[in-house]
Amino acid sequence: MTKTIIELKNADLTLGQAAASVHVLKSISLSIGAGESVGIVGPSGSGKSTLLMVLAGLERLDRGEITIDGTALHALDEDGLAEFRGRNIGIVFQSFHLIPNMTALENVAVPLELANRANAFDIARKELTAVGLGNRLSHYPGQLSGGEQQRVAIARALAPSPKLLIADEPTGNLDGETGRQIADLLFAEQAGRGMTLVLVTHDPNLAARCGRQIQVRSGEIAGNGAARTAGDRTGDQRVPA
Ligand code: ADP
Ligand code: MG
Repeated sequence: MTKTIIELKNADLTLGQAAASVHVLKSISLSIGAGESVGIVGPSGSGKSTLLMVLAGLERLDRGEITIDGTALHALDEDGLAEFRGRNIGIVFQSFHLIPNMTALENVAVPLELANRANAFDIARKELTAVGLGNRLSHYPGQLSGGEQQRVAIARALAPSPKLLIADEPTGNLDGETGRQIADLLFAEQAGRGMTLVLVTHDPNLAARCGRQIQVRSGEIAGNGAARTAGDRTGDQRVPA
């Protein structure tokens, strides 16, 4: 039986103040197994990004529990949370979030150095080569295509060898073919590393490539392949390759 890596219980969150407050997550419970790939889908504004940020330990719950790989994130203080994140969770965003005045190599190496990892630049060079950018190490983000920038962001996310990779619309700013190549890279890395991948996407083709889809509507889970076990994943929401 697959080990559970993400367990969310009655997760509840309201964002914003007073008249502008929005009840974004309404007592959401879900569990995700280690090594799974999960696509979170749903209408714009339904709470997908907020749910991802909770899973990433970047947004705290008002009520409920979030446990990642046996660690209760809701019980950690800010320092503990930051350290846990750095060690266990990689994050990729739609708009890449690279630092413009750092080269590709520095974008990947500097966070490793800040986390006191030895050989940060060697690791960064290796990760960038693995994503096909061995010949772009000294380029700045502004000198790279969108697909190349996303590869740098993926190398940066993977460099600490996280157990969990979280991606919010990772192909949302890319053309169809480039988006497919980035998706190929994400799934290859997920499989090769035995890593868990949780992504949000509007692209039905990308969602269909995930082992399971979770549908979010108005801050609630509307559809969830969770009933199927890891060994019984031949059902409705899985599309053969
Ligand atoms: P999605 O990613 O599904 O488009 P989000 O998680 O970004 O949705 O947002 C869900 C809802 O919460 C939206 O209605 C959005 O306007 C609202 N929201 C998100 N962040 C905040 C915030 N910091 N303050 C107030 N409302 C917010
Ligand atoms: Mg979003």
